[in-house]
Amino acid sequence: MDDCIFCAIASGETKADIVFDGRDTVFFRDIHPKAKVHIVGIPKQHLTSLDAMTAADQALVGKLLHDAAHVAEEAGVTATGYRVITNVGGDAGQEVQHLHFHILGGERLGPLNVR
Ligand code: 5GP
Ligand code: ZN
Repeated sequence: MDDCIFCAIASGETKADIVFDGRDTVFFRDIHPKAKVHIVGIPKQHLTSLDAMTAADQALVGKLLHDAAHVAEEAGVTATGYRVITNVGGDAGQEVQHLHFHILGGERLGPLNVR
């Protein structure tokens, strides 16, 4: 999709600190990390958010989550624990309109506050 920063990262057109590059997914370090470990995982195929997911995308999104657990292991946070979140739409503050899961860890995380 044109003008999508995460599509540009997936295609290699825009540089990112990539930690895992699979056939269907790519994981890279967040440019503004909110925790010691902050990695963003995306499907290479453009999907706006979880809300745009259809039954046909189930395998892809399942793969993305499975890869996220693998990436967390590689990042060394499996034993200490980590959080995986996705923001959907305005109230969640979704900034990039390409489905992504945040992997956060490497330190004790705060509570999952709503505000
Ligand atoms: P959202 O708020 O949409 O859930 O999260 C988007 C995330 O992408 C933010 O944490 C932001 O720092 C990150 N981000 C936005 N643009 C770039 C970029 O060009 N490169 C990288 N590595 N991260 C980005
Ligand atoms: Zn995109």
